[in-house]
Amino acid sequence: MIPRVTATIDLAALQHNLGVVRRLAPRSRVMAAVKANGYGHGAIPVARALEAAGVDALAVACLEEAVELRRAHIHCPVALLEGVISEEEAAQAVYQRLQVVVHDHWQIELLQRLGRDAQVGIWFKIDSGMHRLGFPLTDVPRLLDVLRAQPGWTLHGWITHLASADEPDNGFTREQVARFGAALSGVPGPRSIGNSAGIIGWPEARADWVRPGLMIYGASPMPGQTGADLGLKPVMRLESRLIAVRDFEAGETIGYAQSWTCPERTRIGVAAVGYADGIHRTFRSGTAAMVGGRRVAYAGRVSMDMITLDLRQALDAQVGDPVLLWGEELPAEEIAAQAGTIPYELFCGLTQRVHFRYR
Ligand SMILES: *Cc1c(COP(=O)(O)O)cnc(C)c1O
Repeated sequence: MIPRVTATIDLAALQHNLGVVRRLAPRSRVMAAVKANGYGHGAIPVARALEAAGVDALAVACLEEAVELRRAHIHCPVALLEGVISEEEAAQAVYQRLQVVVHDHWQIELLQRLGRDAQVGIWFKIDSGMHRLGFPLTDVPRLLDVLRAQPGWTLHGWITHLASADEPDNGFTREQVARFGAALSGVPGPRSIGNSAGIIGWPEARADWVRPGLMIYGASPMPGQTGADLGLKPVMRLESRLIAVRDFEAGETIGYAQSWTCPERTRIGVAAVGYADGIHRTFRSGTAAMVGGRRVAYAGRVSMDMITLDLRQALDAQVGDPVLLWGEELPAEEIAAQAGTIPYELFCGLTQRVHFRYR
C-alpha cells in the first residue's frame, strides 16, 4: 500500500543540527525540546537519536510526554517545562526521575507535600519579562529560603524565557538577559536562557544551558532566514501524490467557493493531502508546492483530504507523481510565511493520518 501522505524524518539531519547548536554555544549544555511529539516529528525516535548523539537533557511540556519517553527506555535527564499540576503528578515526576520546572508558589506546595526528604530535581523559572510563567525577579531570595528548607531538593538551575528573541533589532532581549543576571547576581546554580532564537541571535543568551527546539528540527525561527542559512538541515520532508491531473478552460473555477479562476487553459493537479492531514485551510492560493522538481502553486481552497494545484509550471506531471509540501528544496519556514503562520505550527499540526518513515 502506498501512503497518501508521508513525512520522512531524517534522524542524521537531527543529529547534525545538534552539532550546529554545539558549535554556536560551545560552552553550554544542551536541553533539546522534544515536546509536542518532538515538534510533530515523533518524540521517541527523535529522543533516541538525540540521546545517541549525546544530548545533555530533553525537555517536554508535561508529565504524559515524559512518561512516554521513559516507557520507551529513554533514560537521559528529562525536564518538565510546565512542571506538575497535582500531587500525583509530583509523585510520578519523582518516581520517573524527572527534572521539574517550578514556576509558581502553588507548585512549591505540591512538591513540599511529598515530604521533607523527597528527592526532587528542580529548575526555578524566573519571569524576566515574558510575563507568561515564572516567579517575579524579586522572589529569588525567597526561593533560596525554600531550597534551604528542603534538603532533598536538587537545584538544576534557573530558567527564564525570551519574549522577542526572533527580532534582531528588539533591545528587549538584552533587557531580559540583564534583569535575569541582576536578579541572580551572586546566586549559585546554572542559568538557562536561550531557545533557538536566543541561541541564534543573541550570544549573551547562551548561558550554562541552552534550550533549542525548532533549530534541532532544522528550521530557523528568524524571519526571512531559513535553517540552511545557519548550516541546519531540515529533518522533515512532507510529501503526497497527484491523484488527478486535468485541464480546464479560462474562466472555469476550482474547488469550494470557486475561489480560484483559471486565467487561461490551465492544467490542475489534485494532491491527496488536506487539512485533515495538517495542511491548514489558511494555506491560500499561491502557496508553493513542488512537483517533479518544479515549483507550482496552490489554486483554490484546501479541502479535508485534497488540495488543488496550478500545474502550468509542471505540464508533464502525471497521476502518481510525488508532491512536495515542504522539505529541503522547499523550506517549511517559507511555506509557513506564505501561510501566515510559523514552521512550529506546520510541524506540530500534522495529524495521525500522516505516515511516518524514519531514515
Ligand atoms: C519550547 C520551548 C523552548 C524551545 O523553543 P524553540 O523556539 O523551539 O527553540 C525553550 N524553552 C521553553 C521554556 C520552551 O517552552
